[in-house]
Amino acid sequence: MMCRAVHISALVISFTLASTLSHVEGANSRRTDLDQQHPRSDSRAWSSVPVYDAREEVSEYWREVAQRTLQDHTDQRNNARKAKNAIFFIGDGMSLPTVAATRMYLGNENVSLSFEQFPYFGLAKTYCVNRQVADSACTATAYLSGVKNNYGMLNVAASVRRTTCEYDHEATEFKGLLKWAQDAGKLTGLVTNTRITHATPAGSYASSAERDWEDDSEVNADCTTTPDERKPQDIASQLVHGEIGKKLKVILGCGRRHFLPRGTLDEDRVNGTRSDRVNLIDAWKQVHGEMGERAEYVSDKRSLQEAANLKQVDYLLGLFGSSHCLYNLEIDEQQVPVEDRKPKLSEMVEAALQMLEGSEQGYVLFVEGGLIDTAHHSNRARLSLEETNEFHKAIELARTRTSIDDTLIVVSSDHSHTLMYNGYPTRGNDVLGIADISGVDKLPYTTLSYANGEGFSQTYVDGNPSKRIDITNYDLKNYRQRYLATVPLSSETHGGEDVGIYASGPSAHLFAGTLEQNVIPVLIAYAANIGHEFGWAPEPSPTDDGGDASSMSLSLLLPIGLSLASTLARWLHRHVMMAH
Ligand SMILES: [Zn+2]
Repeated sequence: MMCRAVHISALVISFTLASTLSHVEGANSRRTDLDQQHPRSDSRAWSSVPVYDAREEVSEYWREVAQRTLQDHTDQRNNARKAKNAIFFIGDGMSLPTVAATRMYLGNENVSLSFEQFPYFGLAKTYCVNRQVADSACTATAYLSGVKNNYGMLNVAASVRRTTCEYDHEATEFKGLLKWAQDAGKLTGLVTNTRITHATPAGSYASSAERDWEDDSEVNADCTTTPDERKPQDIASQLVHGEIGKKLKVILGCGRRHFLPRGTLDEDRVNGTRSDRVNLIDAWKQVHGEMGERAEYVSDKRSLQEAANLKQVDYLLGLFGSSHCLYNLEIDEQQVPVEDRKPKLSEMVEAALQMLEGSEQGYVLFVEGGLIDTAHHSNRARLSLEETNEFHKAIELARTRTSIDDTLIVVSSDHSHTLMYNGYPTRGNDVLGIADISGVDKLPYTTLSYANGEGFSQTYVDGNPSKRIDITNYDLKNYRQRYLATVPLSSETHGGEDVGIYASGPSAHLFAGTLEQNVIPVLIAYAANIGHEFGWAPEPSPTDDGGDASSMSLSLLLPIGLSLASTLARWLHRHVMMAH
């Protein structure tokens, strides 16, 4: 009995001891974990002095910031008027981390980019019908034409597979925002700093089962057995001869090579790539000449600005490079006087607005800041942030130049990228610099890095993922420097998370909530009163009756919502039926 009692006591003691020990160990390990998860600032290996405004240490400062914002929001009145003009900006690949990092690139974490100051914000879900992570073609189809389709395809229904050479064009192709604007009698324009035949700009005027069919040589390479008369029309030809392209009052971008035949050199002495021997720049002049219009083609900044300033041309085509336009930082490096350098995105937007503004009927302008994306694809973060900066400037220019009373500006992105912004850097630390030194391998890492891409070779010694390169001597001021990447890929990929939608001007309040990306053009059409396609009755021109939040309350919003939903459903039904 005694023995048993002792035995039990020993068991109890040992259990108590064990549980106490394990509790202590648990506490220690939890504490260690907590420290590892959120290291104390004084234990950081990469020590730098935080830089911020001393007022931020005073609690009242933050309370005042919050109060001011609250006041702005309560003062905000929905402007329910219809927009005479609409400008739609797409920052290609402009993910939310890209926007956040650009604030710091501009000097301070608390900076707001021009479009971040817009009063309304929403999120767009960017997946396309057959891929979780989308490309610029299916997303352009969604945010320009209101329909999601397949990766790599422009304005062709998802029932058709990518790169199909022969399909029922009549039944499966559709048009979007710029066509609706043209049908409503508005002027239209297109600006990009990529090839004008690249997926994003092409989404505004072309239908193609393959985004790469930028000229006929690419169609021929894929459709070897298709008779010529049944071959799909290449994208450059659609811009010049297509229903939407012919009516575009201003077209500015790059990609001359797809407009010129092989053997014909462009202004920069680069060869064309067309195999049909057609010079589409001459064809564009001829198309408009035959219509008795004053049409001008320009290939440099000086002639662009002259043509736009003089306003004596009815139609303007500007192509400023053989492939994509130069990056902003490359333009800055051009060893020629500033006026002879290539035009920047904001300069092209200014010229386009000069061509469009002042018209009775109003206009719809589509603008792409396309090199944010291409820079990310090569893991060159500095290039991408500078392109985002230029995009922000172009929007600032547009908002300053137009009236908030009659011009709706919507800014969004097509898809995200794999850029990450991380590592607990101190305030004021160069966002393009070193964040800290890893406590594991004792090597520095940058604040910005990528999940995949060519930067892999700049990250690991001989591609060995257990051995990182010491990046201490990397020249992170050089825009050619690739940033760290975890998975080796020849081109960094897009990301699948949502992107922002920012809106300002008449009916901007419609752009709120987490939306399917294909809802955006329907909202723009409704706001700009160009939705005849959707069956809603055109309303009178903008009036001065204001339309504040109280008058735009549930009683009005509900029928509008229901009407939008039912017209959209009818429209989608019609197109789905057509697609089958
Ligand atoms: Zn891309």
